[in-house]
Amino acid sequence: MKNVAVVGAGTMGNGIAHVFAQFGHPVALIDTSAEALQRATDTIAKNLDRQVTKGLLTETDRHAALNRITTYTKLDEGAASAQLVVEAASENPEVKTRLFAQLDGICPPETILATNTSSISITRIAAATHRADRVIGMHFMNPVPVMKLVEVIRGYATSDATTATVMQLAQGLQKTPVEVNDYPGFIANRILMPMINEAVSSLYEGVAGVAEIDTVMKLGMAHPMGPLQLADFIGLDICLSILEVMYQGFGNPKYAPCPLLVNMVRAGHLGAKTGRGFYEYQGKEATVAARFR
Ligand code: NAD
Repeated sequence: MKNVAVVGAGTMGNGIAHVFAQFGHPVALIDTSAEALQRATDTIAKNLDRQVTKGLLTETDRHAALNRITTYTKLDEGAASAQLVVEAASENPEVKTRLFAQLDGICPPETILATNTSSISITRIAAATHRADRVIGMHFMNPVPVMKLVEVIRGYATSDATTATVMQLAQGLQKTPVEVNDYPGFIANRILMPMINEAVSSLYEGVAGVAEIDTVMKLGMAHPMGPLQLADFIGLDICLSILEVMYQGFGNPKYAPCPLLVNMVRAGHLGAKTGRGFYEYQGKEATVAARFR
């Protein structure tokens, strides 16, 4: 069993720690914020409980999974004995390159350093280390314990051996890994974000309203969620920053973010997490936001 360190205990980090622990890996969960670690531990316990209630996990397995997770606020203490590190810290190139340079100094030379980045170049992150052949993208989907896909992204210098190990590890978590190359947006966001951007443009140009756009895509294309509802769920700031990475990375105007999306982010209407986006959120209730009615 590989010892795994997960760096960043936010939305994604807690899910990634959860699945590795569930499938038998000792996990060091690391975050600079002790509150984030406490929140993550509570969330993992709650999500494991839900799996027990649904009959997906036994009480004994739940207990064992929780016992495999140790939390740390210091990177060197948590990552020193890891054979695999999965970084899920904030989506900021400076934060990630600094972390990878530190991890390169802390971890044994054979340790694989993976990042869960949604959009930052794996090749750029790898260049901050002396082991570019052992740096790779391991892009889990939210919510991690539920979603089956792991996009495995090969940087320019990632070796075949590293890719094979990570593909195998993902399968061991009962996920379906898919190998892709390192170009802006990889595959998931390269296809998803232009669709979301086009939905926002359709609203901006008055082609249809929020509920109408989402209904067309749900009932017409059998999508479980409409693109505007999905954008609210992901966070409009995240959608904007991924579009900007693709716009800059390809220099192609087809990725230019819709001005309405830009305005909403500037105004702090970021979707479900701020209670307001294309919809307004009150508890579990979502209604079309007042300005789009
Ligand atoms: P988040 O903001 O919920 O959590 C990030 C955590 O990282 C925070 O708890 C923060 O305290 C911690 N952190 C920041 N700098 C750190 C450092 N130097 N050392 C240790 N911890 C540090 O973010 P998230 O939504 O979980 O996203 C994490 C990564 O996963 C990002 O790269 C994001 O693009 C990617 N991602 C997110 C989603 C999603 O739906 N949220 C989906 C796929 C991939």
